[in-house]
Amino acid sequence: MCGKERCFKMAEEKIISDVREYSKKYSIEELLEKAEKAEGEELITCLFAAVCIAAEKGLKQIPFDEQLMAARALTKGKIIEMPTGEGKTLCGVFAAAWHKLRGEKTHILTFNDYLAERDRNWMKPVYDLLGIETAFITEKSAFEERKAAYKADVLYISARECCFDYLRDFTAQTLEEESGLSFDAAIVDEADSLLIDEARIPMVVAGETEVAYDPELEDASDYVRTFEETDYEISLETESVFLTDSGAAKAEEHYNIDNIYDEENAELLSKINDCLKAQFFLREDKDYINRDGKILLIDKFTGRTAENRHYPGTLQTAVELKHGVKTTTRGVVMGSIALQYFVRKYKSLAAMTGTAEASMEEFFQIYNLQLEKIPPHLPSQRIDHDLDIYYDTRSKWNGVAEAVMQAHEKNQPVLIGTGSIAQSETLYGLLKEKGIEAVVLNAKNDKQEAEIISNAGMPGAVTISTNMAGRGVDIKLGGSDEACKEDTVNTGGLLVISTYMPESSRIVRQLLGRSGRQGDKGESRRFVALDEPIMEKYKLTSLLPHSHIPEPTHRAVEDKVLLREVERIQRISEGDCFDARARLMKFTMIGEKHRDQIFSARARILEGGRSDLWSSAENYSEALEKLGGEKLARLERKTAAAAINKFWSDYLEYTEELRRGIHLVEVGGKSPSEEYNISVEEYYRGMEEELKHYMEEKLTELLEKGEEGYTVDAPQNIHTYLLEDTGDELNKMPLLLNVFGEEEEAKPLPKAPSVLDAPEEKPVKEKKGFWFFKKKQ
Ligand code: ADP
Repeated sequence: MCGKERCFKMAEEKIISDVREYSKKYSIEELLEKAEKAEGEELITCLFAAVCIAAEKGLKQIPFDEQLMAARALTKGKIIEMPTGEGKTLCGVFAAAWHKLRGEKTHILTFNDYLAERDRNWMKPVYDLLGIETAFITEKSAFEERKAAYKADVLYISARECCFDYLRDFTAQTLEEESGLSFDAAIVDEADSLLIDEARIPMVVAGETEVAYDPELEDASDYVRTFEETDYEISLETESVFLTDSGAAKAEEHYNIDNIYDEENAELLSKINDCLKAQFFLREDKDYINRDGKILLIDKFTGRTAENRHYPGTLQTAVELKHGVKTTTRGVVMGSIALQYFVRKYKSLAAMTGTAEASMEEFFQIYNLQLEKIPPHLPSQRIDHDLDIYYDTRSKWNGVAEAVMQAHEKNQPVLIGTGSIAQSETLYGLLKEKGIEAVVLNAKNDKQEAEIISNAGMPGAVTISTNMAGRGVDIKLGGSDEACKEDTVNTGGLLVISTYMPESSRIVRQLLGRSGRQGDKGESRRFVALDEPIMEKYKLTSLLPHSHIPEPTHRAVEDKVLLREVERIQRISEGDCFDARARLMKFTMIGEKHRDQIFSARARILEGGRSDLWSSAENYSEALEKLGGEKLARLERKTAAAAINKFWSDYLEYTEELRRGIHLVEVGGKSPSEEYNISVEEYYRGMEEELKHYMEEKLTELLEKGEEGYTVDAPQNIHTYLLEDTGDELNKMPLLLNVFGEEEEAKPLPKAPSVLDAPEEKPVKEKKGFWFFKKKQ
């Protein structure tokens, strides 16, 4: 430990011992009063002591030193890594109380609705004793309940719902229709999945519109079915399908065109690519399910169907066409945001997770969150076995089944993590053949899922689950029955088995972390097969010295060199995912800047801030005379809000189209991200002008029709959903480069912490009167 660290540790220890002392000496009221007047460490000490008393009274739990350390780190805006079952939920209360003292509202952003409700109700007695108002919001919460909940000091809400409220506010017609969501402080729970795994999935707000029939897409969908394997190539790396020379030649003949790669054929090519992907890459029951003619996507991380998720653009329709489904209505996107950007709107951000270390760099670079690892209260007694490597998937599953049987014979509970529902079912079938009845976790709601997972520690229980299922739920040895705990401990505690190599080791660690909680006994095993997609994607065999390429066998392969290289694949994959995210950011940052500006501008207009929309128009004085200032201002606000929605929706459509075709600029040797940014900026600037004209036209219309006959185009049937956006269109770039014999230059990763800083804003020229950028006056 260096000198600085030692000093820091001593300061922390002093705070902890003072907290203990104060909580014996003073009452909650006295401590809160003292805290109000105090500063720095004294403030923390008084406040934490008050929370400790409240936790003891309200929960009959005395916060551990480790929890105080974690709470302290949260107040400093850090991400804490604390093993599962160490009591992170209570740590959040300390930080929320600290924000309350500073006059800030806190949102505890949870992984799902179930946890939002559970955690708020669980911690409520503590908050009540501290005089802190709390609330929770779930998908079911009515608008009025939401409005009230956003006024509370501390709000528990799933990150997704909170995003949706932000997006819905963008469609509000008046101030009263807004939720009241504000962005003081956020504490993100389960941060690894929310801020990394799910961070890029755009959340969308849409209004309903009729789908225009697209005969070209339908034709392409029928046409690609006639393709032979030599006509297309699948890239596992970029998760896309593209035409080979013979496929391109066929398409050119079919469509009677010279060159399918010509810019004028870009839209057609993009449709063909979508149809190819729908036909030959996306698989029913792996990537999506077809439930009564409705295509439901399967979430890659949870393995469950995602009710409200679509593939981007025409890909969704292409998949529907593959199954003969014809959709008649589709939402027109009115706004969207990914969690990654949403959380950055908060003035202060902190986070909690069981596994952060593998993504430490990313947390820092993207969110400016520094990691603080909190040691467990009691050291874990989990035994982690070496990776079991199998030659092929079939023998791997037999190996897994064997391991389950061995444990089951001695009544040891087993939790098995799989990569998909299909894999869960394969294993279930295999175990059943061997006489073991497992519980497969593919529950349809979070609550049910939580119950099953919490019973996974019962003696003899065998639970198969996709990786993230049952997030945030603690597995107690012996289940809810304390009397069974001893028996379970004697069997060796919970055995967790990871059955494949995911893109990030974090996912494995998250699974393993479910065993050995709070100093419990436990065991972990990891299985991998050499024919898994990740091994093929990163060409394991090319990394191995020839003599270490194993011969086919049904037994586990034991080879240190092989083990080292297999583990290396995981690290390569982690780096790759990070690169992909960084690359995507180059394209999304500008949109984020624009969205921020336009959302704030719209909110300002509804708040009644000066907008200068109509006052500069020619016939303004005539309108003023006819309608009076107040009425005119009301109509102006309504018109402007609707106009912004309309134009923003066009902007989103434009940028999506642009992203799909931008790879073609590579041909000219230009940088796609730069070209993209230039085009988008131009469009945005043009849009401002267009908006001005639109408003002027509307004013004329108002004068012609009078107030009674005047209408604004308000969106209908507002709904929200998640978009399955893998950034495919951007991934296509290197492929096209190869087609044209060029290589994309490897660029260094952006430096911390400026990755997300919006590109420099161009000064707003007064003359042009970009009214909606002006600050409220
Ligand atoms: P995590 O979110 O870190 O996995 P939880 O907040 O779900 O952990 O808490 C895990 C378990 O530990 C819960 O049953 C909780 O009641 C218990 N717990 C937390 N803090 C304490 C404490 N200070 N004393 C006793 N039990 C605690």
